[in-house]
Amino acid sequence: MNAEIIAVGSELLLGQIADTNGQYLSTELAGIGINVYRHTVVGDNEERLLEALKEASERADTIIVSGGLGPTEDDLTKETLARFTGKQLFYHEASLKKVEDYFAKKGSPMPQNNKKQALYTESSDVFYNRAGFACGIGLEHEDTLFLLLPGPPRELKHMFENDVKPYLLNRLDENALVLSRVLRFFGIGESRLEEQLIDLIQHQTNPTIAPLASDGEVTVRLTAKAAGRAEAEKMLDTVEAQIQNKVGKYLYGKEKETLPSQVVRMFTDNGLTIAAAESITGGWFSKALVDIPGASGILEGAVTVYTEQAKTKVLGVDADVIAHHGAVSSECAEQMAEKVRRMYGSRIGISFTGTAGPGSIEGKEPGTVWIGVADSRQVTSHLLNLTGSREHIRRLAVYYGCWFLLHR
Ligand code: AMP
Ligand code: MG
Repeated sequence: MNAEIIAVGSELLLGQIADTNGQYLSTELAGIGINVYRHTVVGDNEERLLEALKEASERADTIIVSGGLGPTEDDLTKETLARFTGKQLFYHEASLKKVEDYFAKKGSPMPQNNKKQALYTESSDVFYNRAGFACGIGLEHEDTLFLLLPGPPRELKHMFENDVKPYLLNRLDENALVLSRVLRFFGIGESRLEEQLIDLIQHQTNPTIAPLASDGEVTVRLTAKAAGRAEAEKMLDTVEAQIQNKVGKYLYGKEKETLPSQVVRMFTDNGLTIAAAESITGGWFSKALVDIPGASGILEGAVTVYTEQAKTKVLGVDADVIAHHGAVSSECAEQMAEKVRRMYGSRIGISFTGTAGPGSIEGKEPGTVWIGVADSRQVTSHLLNLTGSREHIRRLAVYYGCWFLLHR
């Protein structure tokens, strides 16, 4: 299968939003072994969309269109596909009912154009929109599969993950099944990781091994081609074990796992609780944990203590310690971790203090970060010398905090 993606929306051409749907779809399609050869962006214009559909269908066998399924005048994707394929449009009953029920419940009359969202083309498959109103469409026409998905990213992802991906997997030739697996590493750079795996990478064509750096971590995507799922899984297992052997100590998770999600899982499994004292991270660490379902079982609480006064007044850090060693010091980090642990009565306390730049603080270079970790037996601290933007330094501080918790 080779695919093209067409993103529809004048807001994309005006630069008001970025085509994140295209990026998401490309990642997902690569994950199931479908090659994407082209991305096209067109405005809300029937003639130009028609042209884009025509051109893409001459090259690709699968065309995914995002956007233009909404209720307004400028949403024309379904109408344009109908015109291009010569198909009639009908209303999908369940989708129509969803829109009508919504307005009935609100007690306001439904503007007629809302019905548009329930349209589908004759002889197509319909994807019911669980996260919104506009239904999606799968239409096979003259050897080309057209998939129409709603523009709002949340709706698109929901529909892709739940309906379209299984739909595509079913259509993929079982004789050439392609399976991917993502391994996630932290604490090692992309080039060092690649260096460690170079023999494997060079001598391995199936599965392929592709390292990729992003946002402070490195991922390795393994992609295997086999006659069936079981065989592909086995091939992936074998290469994963070889990689584990070489750089296993940096491997923290797979697929969509994150460092914070691993912390929540590990703490939950071990019945541990945590509290955080955040200076440089300004609440980012606790947010990262709270983003994960199940965080309430492990996170007791957190305080953001940004100034020296806040550190002494709220947490009770010794003013003398700060006067002698500075707020960016192992002594201060250790006190913060221990004080916040006692304050919340948690098993573990963690603290973040440092300088994110651009300027120096207390003569300490931007990127100097101390992370303190306290439990009932001991308090330790870790020094990081990070580089990059303010945001990057703060994000990495959060990731390292998670990393130290996982390797306590
Ligand atoms: P639509 O289906 O055209 O009504 O899209 C509704 C909303 O989805 C738009 O207002 C955008 O905010 C968002 N959207 C549409 N296309 C994209 C895209 N390619 N990437 C990210 N967001 C999009
Ligand atoms: Mg639109």
